[in-house]
Amino acid sequence: MDIKSDSVARRIEAARAARLAQTEVSSRALLVRCWAGEASPRQAIKAFCVACVGGTRAEVTRCTCYACPLYEFRPFKTAREDGILELKAPEADPGMAE
Ligand code: SF4
Repeated sequence: MDIKSDSVARRIEAARAARLAQTEVSSRALLVRCWAGEASPRQAIKAFCVACVGGTRAEVTRCTCYACPLYEFRPFKTAREDGILELKAPEADPGMAE
């Protein structure tokens, strides 16, 4: 017998249906995997960030909530944010000056 009562199960189902409806189609499968306990912690962070910004991946890229504990772990960061472009820029490498 399931430990969840029928009313709790219905509330969970309704909340998840509402969340799915607010999430862009390409991110829905990940949400379902999270709810099933089949996603990795990193994937769950991804799903959380997408939900946080209203269901759009592009908005996660533009997140400016620098104090958020997930900020450094959020997905869809640009190469510049990861420091990749800065390392390749000539002015950032003294050996490339002149
Ligand atoms: S890092 Fe940004 S998008 Fe992710 S949970 Fe925090 S505030 Fe939301």
